[in-house]
Amino acid sequence: MSIARRRGLRARLAITAAAVALLTGSAVLTATTGSAPASAAPATGTSLAGKTIFLDPGHQGGAAGHDLAKQVPDGRGGTKDCQTTGATGVNGVAEHTVNWDVAQLVKAGLESQGARVVLSRPDDTGWGGCVDERAAAASRSGAAIAVSLHADSTTVGTDTTKKGFHMIVPTLPIPDATVNQVQGGEGRKASTIMRDAFLKAGFPAANYAGVNDGIQTRSDIAAVNLTKVPAVFIEMGNLSNPQEAAELAARDGQVKYSMAITDGIINYVKGSTAATIPGVSSPGAATPGTTTPGSTTPGTATPQSSGNDDELSAVLPFIQQLLGTKDPAEIMRLMLTEGQDASAQVLNAMLEVIYGLFGGKLPIG
Ligand SMILES: [Zn+2]
Repeated sequence: MSIARRRGLRARLAITAAAVALLTGSAVLTATTGSAPASAAPATGTSLAGKTIFLDPGHQGGAAGHDLAKQVPDGRGGTKDCQTTGATGVNGVAEHTVNWDVAQLVKAGLESQGARVVLSRPDDTGWGGCVDERAAAASRSGAAIAVSLHADSTTVGTDTTKKGFHMIVPTLPIPDATVNQVQGGEGRKASTIMRDAFLKAGFPAANYAGVNDGIQTRSDIAAVNLTKVPAVFIEMGNLSNPQEAAELAARDGQVKYSMAITDGIINYVKGSTAATIPGVSSPGAATPGTTTPGSTTPGTATPQSSGNDDELSAVLPFIQQLLGTKDPAEIMRLMLTEGQDASAQVLNAMLEVIYGLFGGKLPIG
């Protein structure tokens, strides 16, 4: 790409300057976008106005003198370890960092729609609190939904056979009557909607650990046993699986995970039900394992007919198309013609965060 062509592009960019700079890897653009929203939160949507969302990026960057083995209430009348260090991917990526990076993108997407986002930990370097403390913070936040982000590990080595996402829901009943009512009702509903959002985005449901259609029932997860607002506990993928570890560590993969999570949150908070999400019954999404998350082939996502309640579904094929496009002019054309509906706003917000977080390095290709 010539300098002249870059300058030609620059002259035409305003709304999506940062996003296009990100996608083209053009540092020239970023130095001259004083009026562009590169550093300002693009809070242009209102679909989540007045709503609080609690995000818990699982684990933490360091124990900082805290005792991970300290016993804390498990919500079942017993105790469990305060925290764990989290998994490590076969590619060396730390789970806590994957969780943190994806949470930052989800946060940007939610804030672009007017939500107030509360995080369980302030950064990815220090301490983040015991599991019971994080559950208490979620309850105190008054959030419409609390989402815990995790990535699984099935072995310390490489496991090419086990893959896919799952949502962990608590075995019922839960001793605390309030938690039992919330997680047995709204929490279960929110988890199902999140499952559907992952399927719609093309992620396969886990084929291991007794996961049933993307849902796993467990009694030992304090986050869901103790939280008094609807809780969704996501295992995004398996870090022992080389393909999924690569997707979870890569910026384009993280955008796709965060789009699915944001989609699930918005669908739940706006009152959608699983039955109204058309993508669940679509050919590509209904059969876990037949689609390939992380593929850069345009058109592999299944376009959905979208109504006002399902705007984000329309942007998922668009992401695939963007990520498969190497020609900067074509990327710009796509960005400028995508429109300014909620899905485009969310995507732009996420791309701007990636730009800021990762120094404008080209995250794709
Ligand atoms: Zn975890």
